[in-house]
Amino acid sequence: MKLLEEKILKEGTVLDGNILKVASFLNQKLDVDFIGKMGSEIADIYRNDNVTKILTIETSGIAIAFAAAQKIGCPVVFAKKHRTTNINGDVYSASAFSFTHQLNYNIIVPTEFLDKNDRIVIVDDFLANGNALDGLIEIVNKSGATLVGCTCAIEKGFQHGGDKLRDKGIRIESLAIIEKMSPEGITFRCN
Ligand code: 5GP
Repeated sequence: MKLLEEKILKEGTVLDGNILKVASFLNQKLDVDFIGKMGSEIADIYRNDNVTKILTIETSGIAIAFAAAQKIGCPVVFAKKHRTTNINGDVYSASAFSFTHQLNYNIIVPTEFLDKNDRIVIVDDFLANGNALDGLIEIVNKSGATLVGCTCAIEKGFQHGGDKLRDKGIRIESLAIIEKMSPEGITFRCN
C-alpha cells in the first residue's frame, strides 16, 4: 500500500532493537481517516472470500481490525493477553511470545466467539518473527474455523516471520513490507 509506505517514511522512527515507532498514527495516537483507508485495503484483498470474522490481539491490532471489519460487514474478536475476572467460561488459548515486551503471554479467546463455520482473517499491526500470528493461528485451528489469511499493516521482512508462514502455505498479505531499516533510512520490498 503506497500510502502506508509514504506515511511510514514521513512519520516512522527506527528505534534500537529493530523497533519501528509509528505511535503518531497507529500505536498511541490513531489517525482515524488513515486507519479507515487501511481497513478498505484489507476489505478489498478479501472481497471474494466470504469472511465471517476478523480475529486480532489486544491492543494495537484492534483499531485496524475494526476498520477492516466495518468495510467487510463482520464482527471483530480480539484475543486477550490476560485472563480477566469477567471471562469465566471455556476459552481457546495459545502461548505467544511478545516481541515488544519480551515475555510470554497465554492469549485467550472465549470459545463462544469462534466456531467451525467461521471464515477468519487475522489482522494485526506488525509482523516481525511471527509469534503473535502463530498464537492466533493456533486458536483458529483449535476452534475448527477456516483461516482465510492474515494481514498485518507492517511486516518487517528482515525478521522472516511472514516468509516462514508463507512457506507453510498460509496466505500472508501485509500492507507494507520493510526490507531494511536503520536510523538512516527504510526500504520496502517491491510487490
Ligand atoms: P511478532 O510476534 O511477529 O514477533 O511481533 C508482532 C507483535 O509485536 C505485534 O503484535 C506488535 O505489537 C509487536 N511489534 C513487533 N515489531 C514491532 C515494531 O517494530 N514496532 C511496534 N510498535 N510493535 C512491534
